[in-house]
Amino acid sequence: MNIHEYQAKALLREAGVAVQDGVHCTSVEQALAAYETLGSEVVAVKSQIHAGGRGKGKLYRPDSGDLVMQGGVKIAFSREDVGEYASNILGHTLITKQTGPSGKLVNNLYVEAGCAIAHEYYLALLIDREANSVLIMASTEGGVDIEEVAENTPEAIHKVWVDPIEGLQDSQKSSLADSLGLSGSAHDSFLDMIGALASMFVDRDCSMIEVNPLVRTEGATMVALDAKISFDDNAAFRHQWRAELRDLSEESDIEVRARGHGLSYVDLDGDIGCLVNGAGLAMATMDVIKLCGGEPANFLDIGGAADRESITAAFGIILEDPHLRGVLVNVFGGIIRCDMVARSIIEASEEVGLEVPLVVRFSGTNHEEGKEVLDASDLDVLTTSTLAEAGEAIVKLIGGDFS
Ligand code: ADP
Ligand code: MG
Repeated sequence: MNIHEYQAKALLREAGVAVQDGVHCTSVEQALAAYETLGSEVVAVKSQIHAGGRGKGKLYRPDSGDLVMQGGVKIAFSREDVGEYASNILGHTLITKQTGPSGKLVNNLYVEAGCAIAHEYYLALLIDREANSVLIMASTEGGVDIEEVAENTPEAIHKVWVDPIEGLQDSQKSSLADSLGLSGSAHDSFLDMIGALASMFVDRDCSMIEVNPLVRTEGATMVALDAKISFDDNAAFRHQWRAELRDLSEESDIEVRARGHGLSYVDLDGDIGCLVNGAGLAMATMDVIKLCGGEPANFLDIGGAADRESITAAFGIILEDPHLRGVLVNVFGGIIRCDMVARSIIEASEEVGLEVPLVVRFSGTNHEEGKEVLDASDLDVLTTSTLAEAGEAIVKLIGGDFS
């Protein structure tokens, strides 16, 4: 789960990390009022979308596609500037390197006190799964071109691995501060900040905190001037507060609807829809499809507690994909009974009008009854007993290259 910069900064502020004062706005009037409230002559007017690269992005009119403004983060030197930038941002589509070509409609704005920047650094905390650690990356080459730094001069990025049990050690804090060449009050301010960030990362079960740029101000303090935070969804159950931060308009509509039915759905580029119970089995199913020369259209795990309603919904969601050419159902009956799945498939196919080939592989509880129910129906369906047969069959049926 991702959140907006203004929300991330509120969490950082609470954790004791220095950020500029700012106001979240959804209208030009609010942006103008925020300018008065902040009382800073120079402010940053910042588009809020769940993607980075805003500074170098471009804003377009959603209807005509005309270019409205270069840059989704603007520095305003007057009230007039704020009005102009806010109206050029709100209600327009921002396209950045990270949004994909269709961009994102901007509905939220952050008006933030301007900061006198002496230098821009890069700082990120993320999970290094191979090292079972929190990885902290820091660089003196922060700002809007960090991707190029990572590509061309990776040695300019200093890395520290933190044992999640031991926590961030003082020697590691110093090593990070030194790698940034900090001294005096900026050095001390950084030590406080990195300690607070490392604790917050664990306490809030983050999967990433990226501060780019982290700035040294002309007053020699360290301030988080941008903030991107992602959370580990598997820990959502112990963080009820996250629900309030969720902005569903930033998430894929179909994935949100799937979640509402207790399904995990991820849209993919291929043309064979998959309906599977269990994430591991879903991964294996996708692998088998690929092995047989096909391409999965989605990842879909109906979960262990799937019922008629959620299976019907899952089927409907799969069939929404305009590129769909075939469907493979792979269900291992445990608690879930294959005959119940079979009846749900028939019901859903009638409801949504299935027009592509369907292959079903049942195994486990009531798999024979499930097959009988399908065979006795009017549905044009091929049933198999192994996953390998199912993968081969669906690829053959859609006329894919069979390898
Ligand atoms: P993005 O990474 O999406 O481009 P940032 O928040 O990093 O957006 O903003 C881009 C640049 O704008 C920053 O690198 C910084 O130079 C400048 N900037 C952002 N916020 C402020 C601010 N409050 N005061 C002054 N400059 C800012
Ligand atoms: Mg940034």
